[in-house]
Amino acid sequence: MLVNPIEFFRNLPPKECPSCGSIIQEQAESYLCECDSCLAKQSD
Ligand SMILES: [Zn+2]
Repeated sequence: MLVNPIEFFRNLPPKECPSCGSIIQEQAESYLCECDSCLAKQSD
């Protein structure tokens, strides 16, 4: 049974960065849990 991917993503809550609270524009299957700016701070 196929699930419409648009319906699937629309039902997901926006992913929020736990460090700064920004909405993360990532794919649902992404393992990243923080936004780009926080990740950049960590790797510095
Ligand atoms: Zn962040």
